Amino acid sequence: MAPIPEREVLHCKDCPRWYGAEDDEVGPCSIKHARGDKKYLTHGSHECDEPEQIKWFETEKLAHKRRKSS
Ligand code: SF4
Repeated sequence: MAPIPEREVLHCKDCPRWYGAEDDEVGPCSIKHARGDKKYLTHGSHECDEPEQIKWFETEKLAHKRRKSS
């Protein structure tokens, strides 16, 4: 899994649910694709709008901060 970046909000290019290549500007979001959304391609700099993944990111950020301070 990709390391959690020191970013306040999750961007698609940093998300393990995004399948764009590093140099691509757009790629598929696997959550949107699995749900059957017509617009499942997102820009790498798109700020996450999937509540489940935002929750995951917040949890990971907290764990990351705890690891850094211990
Ligand atoms: S919209 Fe959210 S869940 Fe989907 S790829 Fe982007 S950051 Fe990940």
